[in-house]
Amino acid sequence: MEKIQSTLLKRIEDPLFNEYNLEVDVFLGYRLHPVISGNKYMKLHFWMEKARQMNVNHIITKGGPYSNHLHATAFACKESGWQFTAVVKANEHTKSPTLNDLKNWHANCVYVNRAAYYNEEKWENYSKELNALYIPMGGEGEEGMDGVKKFFNEQLFQPYDYLVCSIGTGTTIKGIAGSNLKAGNLIGVQPGIKNYDTERLVNDIKKIKPEISVKIIEDKTLRPFGQFPGFLLDEMNNWYLQWEIPTDVVYTAKMFRVLMLQIAAGRIKSGSRLLLIHTGGLQGNRSVESGKLIF
Ligand SMILES: *Cc1c(COP(=O)(O)O)cnc(C)c1O
Repeated sequence: MEKIQSTLLKRIEDPLFNEYNLEVDVFLGYRLHPVISGNKYMKLHFWMEKARQMNVNHIITKGGPYSNHLHATAFACKESGWQFTAVVKANEHTKSPTLNDLKNWHANCVYVNRAAYYNEEKWENYSKELNALYIPMGGEGEEGMDGVKKFFNEQLFQPYDYLVCSIGTGTTIKGIAGSNLKAGNLIGVQPGIKNYDTERLVNDIKKIKPEISVKIIEDKTLRPFGQFPGFLLDEMNNWYLQWEIPTDVVYTAKMFRVLMLQIAAGRIKSGSRLLLIHTGGLQGNRSVESGKLIF
């Protein structure tokens, strides 16, 4: 366990942290697997287990053309020698490095419009007909949450005052809340998703761990989801030079920026210990114009 801690945790320094006497550690989730993105690795664990129990060797799930979840699931299926069908919210002419990888791994891509994409019943039935396991978007559900919980329970991290994590479906943050990882405060950073049901997520977390204080924060200058302002790339490059930590444009860079702003605004209690959860997602940086990022 000591070894896991030393390779997956990194203490980072910044004048801002000194000013408020903060100890800041980063959990380097992007190092968990060479291809499968950080939290997707955790979330897939029990979904794959379920497929094995059901004796199913075909998985169907959905996502956008840069989706870390599609990418991770496609690779996991290839490794297991299973069939994989990706329901992609895009037209059939859409190109992306992520979709290229999927094709190279022999995934079957089904391109659909918004209405079809969000029709859960359709995909559940479709999966039943094909004797495949359907995984909801982002690996959501008990299986996903339990995978995150199991992972953090095995880490034996020291207690922290704050845990900070980027959110999408909220599966990861709920798994963390349900784990033995100790912290009085949980901060979820919302990466600009439209019509996000913040209240529901907060209530879900409160049910899992009533004693924890939860805050969901969104930096409106970083909207919308999947897009990013040019200055974010400069910050990502600076953080890389300073901490040797690569971040992704969709989730983790927004998390780091929101946290830095929270600290600068005096909203993080002096003398606290913080753990930032880097959830991975680096493959998505292939959407960034080449040469703009130094890593
Ligand atoms: C998918 C993803 C998230 C969101 O995780 P949820 O469990 O859906 O909340 C956060 N960060 C990265 C890098 C991701 O790929």
